[in-house]
Amino acid sequence: MTKLTLYNTRTRRKEVLVPIDPDNVRMYVCGPTVYDRAHLGNARPVIVFDVLYRLLRHVYGADHVTYVRNFTDVDDKINARAAESGRSIGEITAETTQWFLDDMAAVGALEPNAMPRATHYIAQMVAMIEDLVSKGHAYAKAGHVLFRVRSYKDYGKLSGRSVDDMIAGARVEVAPFKEDPMDFVLWKPSDAETPGWDSPWGRGRPGWHIECSAMAHDLLGAAFDIHGGGNDLMFPHHENEIAQSKCAGHAFANVWLHNEMLQVEGRKMSKSLGNFFTVRDLLDEGVPGEVIRFVMLSTHYRKPMDWTEKKREEAEKTLRKWRKLTNAVEPAANPASEIIAALSEDLNTSGAIAVLHRFAKEIEQKQRMDVPPKEVSIFLASAQFLGLLEDSSNMGGWALEPHLDEFTNRKILKDLEVLLHETRVKAMETKNFDRVDQLKAQLLEAGVEVKMSKDSVTLSPKDSFDPTKLDAVR
Ligand code: AMP
Ligand code: ZN
Repeated sequence: MTKLTLYNTRTRRKEVLVPIDPDNVRMYVCGPTVYDRAHLGNARPVIVFDVLYRLLRHVYGADHVTYVRNFTDVDDKINARAAESGRSIGEITAETTQWFLDDMAAVGALEPNAMPRATHYIAQMVAMIEDLVSKGHAYAKAGHVLFRVRSYKDYGKLSGRSVDDMIAGARVEVAPFKEDPMDFVLWKPSDAETPGWDSPWGRGRPGWHIECSAMAHDLLGAAFDIHGGGNDLMFPHHENEIAQSKCAGHAFANVWLHNEMLQVEGRKMSKSLGNFFTVRDLLDEGVPGEVIRFVMLSTHYRKPMDWTEKKREEAEKTLRKWRKLTNAVEPAANPASEIIAALSEDLNTSGAIAVLHRFAKEIEQKQRMDVPPKEVSIFLASAQFLGLLEDSSNMGGWALEPHLDEFTNRKILKDLEVLLHETRVKAMETKNFDRVDQLKAQLLEAGVEVKMSKDSVTLSPKDSFDPTKLDAVR
């Protein structure tokens, strides 16, 4: 059987994965809080853990892996969004959940086996909190229940910090009901306007961290193999998950995997820097989901990843070339062993992409001498194993357009449609159509088909399309 090596944050070394039960390999990944569109950074863990899920299914069998990713649908950010928009919480979370699923499907992510919503697991959370209180690891005060951090001696081990360092470094909330500033909320009271559930501590709602401990336990059992998420979650979220679960007597996760953050053009993605965008923004601009996925996979998950316009362009060119290379070919039953070997080395996705590049080059060279189709089929199966070159219909509108080679060309034509339309509207007023005729002739000369109706212009590339001939027009 393939040996799968993963870097375990908990032990700070690469380890060979030894599943608790190879018949049911279990993975939990922290999912989104559903109040808004997923930004590009949110897609990174989804894609990283999707690759791991595919690999686990390959190694242990598709029916022998359980992947759970939650939806946080109770949170103060959701409450605030409801209050400011005047819409109901249920409406906002349902809509955002569907957006997330659609956007992640567009970047080629398979759906996990279970996607529990926090609000469906309140009873399990309450039971777990009661257990922690009875064992002295938590205490109730003023309608709140708090976890007693000093009662868990290994607190901070995952992120490698001591409790005192954490107090000094973190903005911990000091509240009158806390015994210690580090103690964190398991349960808090809700007023009449805020969602709440009856509990032994009055009507209230859970703090954020307890949901993952309760849902992982319910769906994966007291011990499971892999826990994942972005490294921004390591502290406090994952430290708190570990503390709660261990103190409840659960062995919890063996291997902890964390992806590094995504940046845009070398800078942290943020609204104030104006470089913040969502996955949907890109899809709507016409960037195929597959291109997003390709760019993400080009950087190893433990390295910071930089999203750049240049990478986007390169990825699009490569994928167009590969789609042409595999056009009308059936994939082989299995990917090439080199792909599995690269991924088995701590998910070396950039290595796997390099293997695909090598295959493509070999096929291109051999194509001149009549390549054996088997090699193309294996290439296709290998790309599809990584979630690339799949059936294009669900990849965000990507279509094989051999004569329209780049995203840029599409954009150029869109701009020219506007130009020609405006020129035509003006011409109808002045009754001078010279400029319209001239533009039209130049477009035809560049191999562009021109269709004009009363209120729109449609330009489409013909086989003879040559974008360089448009330079004069633009
Ligand atoms: P959030 O909704 O902020 O809790 O984030 C959902 C997931 O996206 C978590 O696993 C985060 O670690 C991850 N995430 C958030 N921002 C980024 C980013 N810039 N790069 C990579 N992952 C991120
Ligand atoms: Zn979590």
